[in-house]
Amino acid sequence: MASVGKRDYYEVLGVPRGAAVAEIKSAYRRLALKYHPDKNPGDPEAEARFKEAAEAYGVLSDEARRERYDRYGHEGVAGEVGFHDVQDIFGAFSDLFGAFFGGRREAGPPRGASLRVDVSIPFELAAGGGRHPLTVRRRVACADCAGTGSADRRPPVACGTCGGRGAVQSSQGFFAVRRTCPRCNGAGQVVAQPCATCRGEGLGMGRRELEIDVPAGVHDGVALRVAGEGEPAPGGGVPGDLTVRIRVEPHPLFQRVLEDPADLLVDVPVPIATALLGGTVKAPGLDGEVDLDLEPGTEPGAIVRVRGGGLPRLSGGGRGHLYARIHYDVPRKPGRQLRRAIEALAEAEARETGPARRRFLDALKAHREAVERRRR
Ligand SMILES: [Zn+2]
Ligand SMILES: [Zn+2]
Repeated sequence: MASVGKRDYYEVLGVPRGAAVAEIKSAYRRLALKYHPDKNPGDPEAEARFKEAAEAYGVLSDEARRERYDRYGHEGVAGEVGFHDVQDIFGAFSDLFGAFFGGRREAGPPRGASLRVDVSIPFELAAGGGRHPLTVRRRVACADCAGTGSADRRPPVACGTCGGRGAVQSSQGFFAVRRTCPRCNGAGQVVAQPCATCRGEGLGMGRRELEIDVPAGVHDGVALRVAGEGEPAPGGGVPGDLTVRIRVEPHPLFQRVLEDPADLLVDVPVPIATALLGGTVKAPGLDGEVDLDLEPGTEPGAIVRVRGGGLPRLSGGGRGHLYARIHYDVPRKPGRQLRRAIEALAEAEARETGPARRRFLDALKAHREAVERRRR
């Protein structure tokens, strides 16, 4: 939150810097009454003052925050107290408003609760994207009353207590107090004879079958939000949202173990002779097979990169790469022909030592001599 252009909190509340808590409280109370949205409907200037006063009070009424503010100014409490709308303010200072406003809540039925579910999807769906069926256990329309809440399935009628407004008003002094209707709980409607199964709520536990849109490139832990598929709100209010957390099932070939979740690792066993002499081998690619060109003398564990052979990036930035890790296909029980070839290789190797082994044998000899010198 930018602190540029913010007024000094003491100045906002009109109190001296050393003001006692009680003084701060009564100053805020005075301003909150003056700029209260119920007294200044549709006045953005009053709303801005109302928020500003609430923010100042939020900082100066808290000992630790006030101390930080006194020392470092707005920077010391940046982002700690801020209100997007007046509802936030009623929520934050409900104790205070309860004392002198009688509380206030937006009239109307309450919002449904949010839901979270985890879902496992096949690797292919994560790679290519698409739709995925999902069953969510949550409250749904009551089957016995078809969601009406009434035993005779007749639609509900306007609540007599609040006249269908969902809120009741009373006055305290000069000030009008609005609170959620206690009879209909804000719904504005009541049923004459409540359904016995759902006690008039119109909701019961059930299953909701839906399909989610899975974007290509999703990985473990990605959370998809489905608006309006959370718990329904009693009384026909706005339902909550559903958050679907993705888990991608492992694939027998492709592993997502690299830093970039769009990169894939695949282990490819190759014939030893091809690795030694160089050549082309087949490797799995997302759309079938890809050819890997092996340099002569490719060592086991070598990585061959296929550019753009990975998954699409969720952020829309192209594709990751496919990394093929080379393994030597060591024959466990070689057949006669292969055995003869290996024996011929052994004979040749006895006469011709490779560079790595030559370096190793030299180092081994030097080591042996050093040990013997130490013994003497
Ligand atoms: Zn029912
Ligand atoms: Zn009512």
